[in-house]
Amino acid sequence: MDSARRDGFFSQAGLGVSVAGLTKRYRTAAEEIYALHGIDWEVAPGDAVAIMGPSGCGKTTLLNLLAGVDRASGGSVVVGGEDLTRAPERALEEYRLLRVGFVFQLFNLVPTISALENLEMPMMIRGVPADERRARAESLLATVGIAEKAAKRPEELSGGEQQRVAVALALANDPALILADEPTGNLDSENAIAITRLLLSLSADHGKTVILVSHDAAVVRQFPKVSAMRDGRFVRSANSDG
Ligand code: ADP
Ligand code: MG
Repeated sequence: MDSARRDGFFSQAGLGVSVAGLTKRYRTAAEEIYALHGIDWEVAPGDAVAIMGPSGCGKTTLLNLLAGVDRASGGSVVVGGEDLTRAPERALEEYRLLRVGFVFQLFNLVPTISALENLEMPMMIRGVPADERRARAESLLATVGIAEKAAKRPEELSGGEQQRVAVALALANDPALILADEPTGNLDSENAIAITRLLLSLSADHGKTVILVSHDAAVVRQFPKVSAMRDGRFVRSANSDG
């Protein structure tokens, strides 16, 4: 059933995500806040799904749990058959490096080195040889449509170009799951649509699982599947095909 094109640069297939009874409670000195109220949710391998919801409804909290950068208070987060809530810290570190690509609203780029060198950093951490790193970084910049900007530093690039580099950065280690938290929040509508199409193509053309969070209806509308959140819960599922 998988018609995705795969080449040497995008070989890791998308992973399925299954969340059950997922709860996140934040404790502050004054109070307890439930950011997620026991949610159940599934994403099939290779799907592209948008999550929409107002500020404070728990979107970033959910993405952080899927990314393995935070721990749940209860329930389970199963990605590719592995329950992250039971994984030891070392396994989570490997999961973050090798399985997940995270795209933020803030670009997460080192401003003083070139776009190409930014892309090489996660591969360096993984121990990829220098010539292979360079070739892959160049290929990633071509994938996101800015091959000619390789030598530019992020501070020399426009917001739209920086966000393309940030998407390429998330792809550096060929992740199976791409998580994007308001990735178009700082962009004008033309660049927002371009970045959204780019993220969608990672699912359609490369078989990656893509989960995007946004409160921008113009962005969310382009996704084949949309889940809506409110007050730490999914309230309904809309499908723009239907
Ligand atoms: P969204 O991304 O949808 O705007 P968040 O997941 O960031 O929402 O936040 C959900 C709720 O959890 C909000 O009420 C927020 O104030 C609270 N929250 C988020 N992070 C923390 C934290 N580290 N400590 C305490 N409360 C938090
Ligand atoms: Mg958020």
